[in-house]
Amino acid sequence: MGENGCRIGVFLCNCGGTIDSIDLLEVADHCRKIDDVIHVEMYDFLCSPSMSESMGQTIRDYDLERIVIGACSPRIYMDHFRDIIESSGMNRYMVEMANLREQCAWIHTCDGKGATEKAKDQMLMAIARSRRMTPSIHGTIASVDAELCDGCGVCKTVCEADAISIVSRKDAEGLLSNVDPKICEGCGVCVSSCPSGAMDMELFSNDEILAEVDAATEGSNGFPHIVIFACHWCGYAAGDMAGIKRIQMDPRFRVVRTLCSARVDPEWILRALSNGADGVMIIGGKPGHCHFEVGSLRTRKRMTLLGKLLAQFGFDRGRFSVAWIDADQAEEYANVVDSFIEEVVKLGPNPMNEPREEVSGLTGTWAEKLARLKE
Ligand code: SF4
Ligand code: SF4
Repeated sequence: MGENGCRIGVFLCNCGGTIDSIDLLEVADHCRKIDDVIHVEMYDFLCSPSMSESMGQTIRDYDLERIVIGACSPRIYMDHFRDIIESSGMNRYMVEMANLREQCAWIHTCDGKGATEKAKDQMLMAIARSRRMTPSIHGTIASVDAELCDGCGVCKTVCEADAISIVSRKDAEGLLSNVDPKICEGCGVCVSSCPSGAMDMELFSNDEILAEVDAATEGSNGFPHIVIFACHWCGYAAGDMAGIKRIQMDPRFRVVRTLCSARVDPEWILRALSNGADGVMIIGGKPGHCHFEVGSLRTRKRMTLLGKLLAQFGFDRGRFSVAWIDADQAEEYANVVDSFIEEVVKLGPNPMNEPREEVSGLTGTWAEKLARLKE
């Protein structure tokens, strides 16, 4: 049993050698030292049928309770891995993936050291998040804590899917929010809108994301330390597309995947900055193109206000940015992220954090490495 009471198994895949800009042996050693990690295995093609059998056997042999996979994008094989762990006797949602291929090895091919540090941090984040995961019946849907809900109805007004009804309590006076799991699309807008903290997601819960944010800011501690919240359908998909196109980017950022930009809670931004992140960015789909229709519009309204409030919390406004990028805009994704990193470097380290050295060897040689790759 690990220190926090769960048994985590880590599976790393080098995708037949296509992830070889990352030193996966170093990543594996790093994972072995993380609390609660009981077992680490490396594969060539984790998604192949024979490897699936082997993975299932390992889950049973080590009596694993959480699975963390470092491989391709969770947008591709998450459901496949959920099927494997379910057939091994686990709840199908107790798996998290770190994207070591599209959004690490493939966009940082010319900087193996930077890619490896990023891979280690993304694994640390995924493992931290997995500790907070709880078995789920429906997956990514909203759920209500009846003790905290006061029946105000804010969640109902923001739910575009019309999945929420406000009902009379059966056991007491008063009203209560009720989510229809068959209609809920999992955008999470109701969660970040609930004034009582009564709404949460079964997957992508506040606890999970905050654990990931904490891990993102405790990882490799050089400057700059940048956290990006990327919407699964738009910004994150554009990051995958950047990898597929092998667009080369500065590796000094860590990505937290969310289901919609409107799911991003202002508390997450403040948490990251208070933890010492030098910059925080949200990337959602262009307003009007949002997968959930009005998610980006809500994000724009809420985050404009947050931007103004940040100064009152003592943060430089330039440390926070919101960008609108659609799934097919890989070049824009790379430009926006690289430009933000440059701006944060100009601002210097977050004064909330201890003084740190700039990550050695990256800034000075970055342009040369990129130029070499393009030759
Ligand atoms: S917004 Fe929160 S407190 Fe208000 S009804 Fe919905 S879940 Fe309950
Ligand atoms: S997660 Fe989105 S779709 Fe589901 S109940 Fe909340 S606002 Fe509605």
